[in-house]
Amino acid sequence: MRVTTLGGLGEIGRNMSVVEYDGRLVVVDCGVLFPEDHQPGIDVILPDFTSLRDRLGDIEAIVLTHGHEDHIGGVPYLLKERPDILVIGSELTLAFITAKLKEHRITPRTQHVEAGDTYHAGVFGLEFVAVNHSIPDGLAVAIRTPAGLVLNTGDFKMDQFPLDGRITDLRHFARLGEEGVDLFMVDSTNAEVPGFTTSERDLAPAIDHVFATAPRRIIVSSFASHVHRIQQVLDAAHQHGRKVAFVGRSMVRNMGIARDLGYLTIPHGLVVDAKKLESMPDQKVTLICTGSQGEPMAALGRMANGDHQISVGEGDTVLLASSLIPGNESAIYGIINKLTDRGANVVHKGNAKVHVSGHASAGELVYCYNILRPRNVLPIHGESKHLHANAQLAVSCGVPAERVIVGRDGMVVDLVDGVATIVGQVEAGLVYVDGETVGKATEDTLHERRLLREGGVITVLALVDPTTTTLAEPPEFLTRGFVHDDHTFDGASAEVTTALARAAEQGVTGIDALEQAISRAVSRFIQRRYRREPVVIAIVVES
Ligand SMILES: [Zn+2]
Repeated sequence: MRVTTLGGLGEIGRNMSVVEYDGRLVVVDCGVLFPEDHQPGIDVILPDFTSLRDRLGDIEAIVLTHGHEDHIGGVPYLLKERPDILVIGSELTLAFITAKLKEHRITPRTQHVEAGDTYHAGVFGLEFVAVNHSIPDGLAVAIRTPAGLVLNTGDFKMDQFPLDGRITDLRHFARLGEEGVDLFMVDSTNAEVPGFTTSERDLAPAIDHVFATAPRRIIVSSFASHVHRIQQVLDAAHQHGRKVAFVGRSMVRNMGIARDLGYLTIPHGLVVDAKKLESMPDQKVTLICTGSQGEPMAALGRMANGDHQISVGEGDTVLLASSLIPGNESAIYGIINKLTDRGANVVHKGNAKVHVSGHASAGELVYCYNILRPRNVLPIHGESKHLHANAQLAVSCGVPAERVIVGRDGMVVDLVDGVATIVGQVEAGLVYVDGETVGKATEDTLHERRLLREGGVITVLALVDPTTTTLAEPPEFLTRGFVHDDHTFDGASAEVTTALARAAEQGVTGIDALEQAISRAVSRFIQRRYRREPVVIAIVVES
């Protein structure tokens, strides 16, 4: 049995692993990673499918543990490579992925499973275990082959009083532990956090306080998938006699799905169209929108920038009922400041208890290790520090250190006679989705974009006499985003002249080569004189 982890090791996102037995494959999750500030212009980042590309026909199924983007967001791109891969998941997960695939004009082959179910996908015996998380209907999956049993938790926590009463099924974990778990792939996101993750219900008092004291409108921002958090907001709004409207495409879509399937209970008449709220008194209004991670194009970001039909103003209360994903901090604080400048009172996890994590803390993980007593452990879902912290917990629970594998994306692990060993590495680079292109933007593209962002661009227009390779007239300098005055380029002309003379000496005549020589010369000049690094583009026109 072979396990290849294509994403989620060393990063929070693009979770994906592949289990192989007897030449057949089953994929668990296929998520996206969201770009950071140093990846300008990128929409999302995918796992690298290179190692699967020649083997698409060997895939029996893809199992989705839950409906979060970092677990399902890459599925449309995988199905574009082979549309008839069977997609297995719980009801809500399949509803979310089916809606997403519809936008990509893909109708998936699906298999609905529930906690406790078993399903045979070719040589793989799959068994599903209820887990709770910040989205309903999460499943851990046990994968059985004659070579052993792998248990992948997906994302989970052990909220003992979840809103839907669906607890992480530790009795099921215990049965698997009795049978013998050969490889335990376990969520590491909160492994550094001591103790236990508190219950979703603990947020009720803080949310209630917001509704009891807000003088005007309440604008709540959350993930479009956080059904339980939104349920709590709906309940509070109902109790305090407010009406609610959902704002933003993904929020409206997901909440419609969750309501239709019974995961969200909406009292009659509570939710109305956003248009209808305009004519209601402010103290009766609640808006629920996306953008809690500071995404500039999401509803809240546009409201903060005054670029949305809903204008936030004096006396409004904005409730950020969500986590702060590492890397998004400055974007979120920027939005909090802008909203505050507009006169809003912003309530967030930094000043009120309006968020609990969706992931198991160290205390819960320790319980899992002791219940399961796994032979080998592979911490997943986390940056290096989270993976190492989780590995430490496994060792503290008696798993031999040599049986705990802290890996990185692309790592290949073989399970032979109950012993897991790293045997290789496959390609697992970041695959950038940039508008309509996938994998076309490279590290070089991003480097150029950062240079453009930081230094601007200078275009050098040079009219060159092809017979002598000399300037026919002084070059022109055009700029964007580069600050200059009348004398900035004094001396640059001489550099261009010198570069052309040197090129002529070396017999270089091609236009491309001359352009390169000129842009290099001007770059060096700007760097030397002004300590700046703009992008320099030379255009040579033969006179
Ligand atoms: Zn999740």
